[in-house]
Amino acid sequence: MSSVKTKELISEEAYKALECIVGPKYVTADPAECQAYTGRGYSFEFFWWQDICRRPACIILPENTEQVAKIVKVCNHYGIPYQPGSTFGWVPLSSTNLRDDFLAIDLKRMDKLEIDEKNMYALMEPGITYARLQAEAMKRDLHTMVPAGGGGVAVIANQLSTGWGSLCYRITMSQVRRMNGVEWVTPEGEVVRMGSLVNDYSGYWRGGLGPGLVGILKGQSSWAGSMGIVTKMAFKLYPFQPEKPEPDGIGCNTCVNLPPRMRWYNISFPSEETLEKAIRAIGNAQIGAYVNRVPAYMREISRCRGSVEYRNMFWQSWSQLTPETLSTIHVLRVLLIGYTSQKQFEYEERVLTDIVNENGGTPLRTRQSDEACFMYACAPDIWMATGSQLLITVGTESLRCTRQMGDDFQDRWTRDYKTDALDQYQEPPWYMPVEFGRTAYSECDGYYDSLRLDPDGSQYDRELVIRSQQFFQSVVPSIEARTGWVSNFTTFTRCSYTSDAMYHNASVWVDRFQKEFNPQGLSNAGFPYIGDKLLDIFPGMITDEIKDTVKAVKEAKWRGL
Ligand SMILES: Cc1cc2nc3c(=O)[nH]c(=O)nc-3n(C[C@H](O)[C@H](O)[C@H](O)COP(=O)(O)OP(=O)(O)OC[C@H]3O[C@@H](n4cnc5c(N)ncnc54)[C@H](O)[C@@H]3O)c2cc1C
Repeated sequence: MSSVKTKELISEEAYKALECIVGPKYVTADPAECQAYTGRGYSFEFFWWQDICRRPACIILPENTEQVAKIVKVCNHYGIPYQPGSTFGWVPLSSTNLRDDFLAIDLKRMDKLEIDEKNMYALMEPGITYARLQAEAMKRDLHTMVPAGGGGVAVIANQLSTGWGSLCYRITMSQVRRMNGVEWVTPEGEVVRMGSLVNDYSGYWRGGLGPGLVGILKGQSSWAGSMGIVTKMAFKLYPFQPEKPEPDGIGCNTCVNLPPRMRWYNISFPSEETLEKAIRAIGNAQIGAYVNRVPAYMREISRCRGSVEYRNMFWQSWSQLTPETLSTIHVLRVLLIGYTSQKQFEYEERVLTDIVNENGGTPLRTRQSDEACFMYACAPDIWMATGSQLLITVGTESLRCTRQMGDDFQDRWTRDYKTDALDQYQEPPWYMPVEFGRTAYSECDGYYDSLRLDPDGSQYDRELVIRSQQFFQSVVPSIEARTGWVSNFTTFTRCSYTSDAMYHNASVWVDRFQKEFNPQGLSNAGFPYIGDKLLDIFPGMITDEIKDTVKAVKEAKWRGL
């Protein structure tokens, strides 16, 4: 990496101090190199279009915890705002701050990984991706989940920001329960160990000497880098089974072929109600490794199998669908794994068959390979058919609550916003049970035409942008308040205005924690609450609907209306 002229935004003296820590090869202020770290990609490209995401002034790549702590101390000394990133896959969240003077701390050189097979945990640094962890874990008959962001996502960054994937059906949703211990460089540069890492790097359980502090680094929502830097994590792994899935294909057209002890079942049900009943019964019987209500959008995209031509193929098949055809399609996809033995697999298959029969289900022809559960090779295709996907809300609640929120979401979308983006033909938004059906995950997306949202796009439509933000910041939070459904993106993409009453006064707690731990506000300066920045740009996005809802929640005896 070349080190050319330092940006004026970071003084020559501060730059020299940074250079002394990592050596000249691993720090740069070259605009071309910094440009690569500018927040784009995924739905948050939207924040780049609004000029919220800017190019960092400088990039630094530390090699170990000591260097990270020294860098953070230099930042505190010179008042330089900084932003950690593990693989910078979610660059927008790592640079959404309306300023040009920050230092991006790229942690990818810190990539040590040790697996304690007997005690079933991995001790790793921020540069470790899911692809690497999953591959190493499977060699030892262990496994973990992989998020839909793909195998290239960093495990630590993902656990701190989101941390859910399809295999959470059996191995728990809550990332906090998987973090056995953490080594943390506080926003002011102190090194703190938590959980069982307090006990000399033995990370096999969550306990440790003193109070358990791991929870301050991740709760329902995320700090998005505004709470210092995690430099090591002891991460719980789960037993797998000895027969290995075999990789097949190349590039986007990649999958793993399943061994006999793992099997997919696609099942068609006569109605949404019978499908839901089957979900509950499968959870009650405690069988299954993964259970998913397949949305038509995902099914159509996956049929295209990552082909270069996939966009055209998708448009051809999508345009043939109608609300009427979709109202008759109710497909559940179930993965069974004989974790302990072939006998377990056969038992689960018998139970599943009974449940399917009792609910009038019909098994469909199912390919015995996987591209979206263990490796997420198909991730880029899934999200980007229209060039932009706005992730409107995502989270977990009871199945009943999740379904109600989804129905209200779809009603409102169909009534007032349908022509703004891809027609989803009134299908319920994506939902699936997690934690053996104790809760249900849902994700509501809007697939917008990027040419209409990008100010430089040929069909830019500012009115549409405002409407998309109204739906995101006013309509959907009002639905959440009415149904009691809580979004995971509360503190990082929503407006603090809506969070006051509706999300346990999260903003009050965010402010308290930030004041205590990040008093200079340098750790990801400007975060959380990206929604507040958007409010300055689009004042109209907070409508009377949400104002009235917030007022009603404040006056109500209990959260929810
Ligand atoms: C198409 C798509 C689908 C996705 N679907 C899912 C999904 O189903 N489930 C899921 O869990 N996630 C999902 N994600 C989110 C994805 O997993 C994130 O990219 C990931 O959580 C962040 O890891 P990263 O390596 O990509 O990001 P980074 O950009 O490196 O970091 C993300 C955030 O964490 C902070 N951070 C990074 N490293 C550290 C550290 N060591 N200490 C403190 N803070 C740090 C950064 O400042 C930033 O705010 C999806 C993303 C995409 C693009």
